[in-house]
Parts: sequence; structure tokens; C-alpha cells
Amino acid sequence: MNRIYFDHAATTPLDKRVLEKMTPYFCEMAGNANSQHYFGREAMKAVDEARDKIATLIGAKPSEIYFTSGGTEADNWALRGAAAAYGKKGKHFIISKIEHAAMLSTAADLEKQGFEFTYLDVDERGMISTKQLEKSIRPDTVFIGIMFANNEVGTIQPIQKAAEIAKKHGIPFFTDAVQAMGTLEINVKELGIDMMSFSAHKFYGPKGIGALYVRNGLTLGRLITGGHQERTKRGGTTNVPGVVGFAAALEIACAEMEENRKYVTRLRDKFISRVEKEIPYVKLNGHRTKRLPANADFSFEYIEGESILFSLDLAGIAVSSGSACSSGSLEPSHVLLAMGVDEALAHGSIRFTFGKHNTMDEVNYTVDKLKETVARLRKMSPLFAELKGEIKNV
Ligand code: PLP
Repeated sequence: MNRIYFDHAATTPLDKRVLEKMTPYFCEMAGNANSQHYFGREAMKAVDEARDKIATLIGAKPSEIYFTSGGTEADNWALRGAAAAYGKKGKHFIISKIEHAAMLSTAADLEKQGFEFTYLDVDERGMISTKQLEKSIRPDTVFIGIMFANNEVGTIQPIQKAAEIAKKHGIPFFTDAVQAMGTLEINVKELGIDMMSFSAHKFYGPKGIGALYVRNGLTLGRLITGGHQERTKRGGTTNVPGVVGFAAALEIACAEMEENRKYVTRLRDKFISRVEKEIPYVKLNGHRTKRLPANADFSFEYIEGESILFSLDLAGIAVSSGSACSSGSLEPSHVLLAMGVDEALAHGSIRFTFGKHNTMDEVNYTVDKLKETVARLRKMSPLFAELKGEIKNV
């Protein structure tokens, strides 16, 4: 069976050019970057070069990049590090209601420790209001964190404006750029970002490696204590092949960004227009224009997202219901609920995220399968039958 992968927001396959760059650091050049002999020095050289490359690509300085195990750790570090560094000054944090679980569950932990969180609302397209952001600022606010782009519905937030507001009030501004990095141009200095998390496996790099950018001059507590790695800020033997792959993947993503974005947008737009034309009772979730190029998130009325997911999987098509991290839970998506989507409709949502290796034939095949699947599932749905008048209410 030919398998089709439409779940690039969950993770992307490693680019083979990236693998080639990484391979020597698993084998012949497998030194510990902190060792003083030849192998260690070569490993450290590769890490330094990777750090320089990544910093340049996001408009930062190498000393502002700290490698982590991924986006989750970087999000944790930003929040917990700010709590440790600024907790004496103030206990109030502002984040949005649609942050990733890495942020929301860390916030829940910090609330138990006495910190207070304001969770900004979003409108029906998943957009925060910068007016509400500014109104929420208190004298004891010490952290503002708004994700760059949402992982479920793809809405891109007004990051520059939010960062300006934070700066005006002298509050550190953090953004989770895990979904945006590699797809959108991001220059931390131009955008006024103080801290930012990103993760290589979302742009055809390896899993298990990410970074937290921290503007020089900003204090942040440590999350992982241990050795002297990452200028004593993050202990743990450096994942040298991961770091090398991270830099190689980001370099390719930035060099090919325009071309890939155009290509993926064409696939996505074709998908959206066919679904909206050919399948009744569907709703596109998220912003129509300010959305990630790869993202199409739909709610299908009168059916469960999971049933669609499993039917498509049987047909060889991989998609996601809600975010991969929260699937497995039966709770409807917190993002859709925050956008005001009703619970039943939120249960019927599916995320399709396209990638540079997908083809238009795959898109067309998927729409055809989706049409069949939705029609079949609706035939079995009592709610749909009721709508069609096939079952009369008594
Ligand atoms: N933040 C966002 C917006 C994400 O989409 C994800 C992963 O899906 C993460 C954080 C977590 O990143 P990682 O998988 O690298 O831990």
C-alpha cells in the first residue's frame, strides 16, 4: 500500500542531506564535546559551528543559543527559569489559552507554587487580542508568552506587536516558535523577542534536539543542573549529532523556505478548496490568511474525528485529530474550545499538515477518500439522519 503522510505538524521526516551531515558524529567522530582530546575538540568545533549557524539564521548571537532536548524542555525552561529569576519581583505571568501543553501544564505546576497566570482569550479564528494583552499587564507581571503559530489550527499571532507591548512595560517576552521555525522568517532582534523555543524535528531535522534563545542580558534560572555544558546553564552531555543535524536542517529550511512555502501552500489551498466545495457541513478552523502554509484543520459535523482518522489510516493516509500530543485523551481540543467551537464540532476535527515531499496526486486521492469516508460515517450517524429527516423526532 502506498502510504501518505499528512501529519507534518506532529513531526517531519529527516532530510537525507541532514542525515549525511550527522552520520560522522555518531561513528568516527563520536567524541564528547567536553573532552579535551582530539575527538572532543572536533565535537566541540562542530557544536560551535552549528551554534553560529543557527544564531545567524535567526538574527541572534551564538552566546544567546542554548541547546535543549526539544521544544518541551525549552518551554519548561522559559517558564520555570523566569519563575526562579523573577519570582521575588512579581508572581504574575501572561500566556494565551491556546499554548501547547508544554506551556499549559508547566503553568498549572507554577500556579500550585503560588504564581498567578492570566490566560489570554482568542477570537473565533484563534487570534489573541493585543488590546487584551496590554490590559492584562499588572505591576507584578514578569513574563509574557505568546506562541508564534498554533500547532492545531495554524493561526499566526501578531508577535511583533505583542513584543512591543511587553517591551514598553519592561516585561520579558517569550514566544514558542516550534511550529513557525523553518516556515516563516524569524529574526529575533527585528521582532523584539527576548526568549524563544524551537525544535529541529518540525523542519526535517532530528528528534530530541531543540533550543531556547535567551537575549543576552536577560537572567533566567536553570532547569537542568549538572555539568558545565551550555555555559553552565544546561547540564547534560551535548547531543552532538543532533546539534549538527539541527543546524543543517535549519540552514536548508531557510535556504529553501520561499520555494517550499509556495509549494506547500498550493497543496494546502487545493485541499481546502476541494473539501469546502465537495463535502457539506465542514468548517475550516483557524485564520484564513494568517495561517501556517502547511495547515488545514477541519471540523466535520455529525461525526467523530477519531472515526475519520482510523478510516483514513486504513486507506493509508496519516492525519491527526487534535494535536498528536493530546490525542490519546478523549478531551476535545482546548484550542478549538477557546475559539468558541462547540464541543460536538470540536470532537469532529481533523488536522491535515502537508510537507515538501507530498504531491498534488496525494492531495486529490485524500480528498476522494475523505469524501467517501465522511459520507459513509454520516450514514451511520443518528444526528445526521435526524438532520436529513430520515428519523422523525417524536
Ligand atoms: N510547542 C509546540 C507549539 C509544538 O507544536 C510542540 C510539538 O508538537 C512542542 C512545543 C513540543 O516540542 P518537542 O516535540 O520538540 O518537545
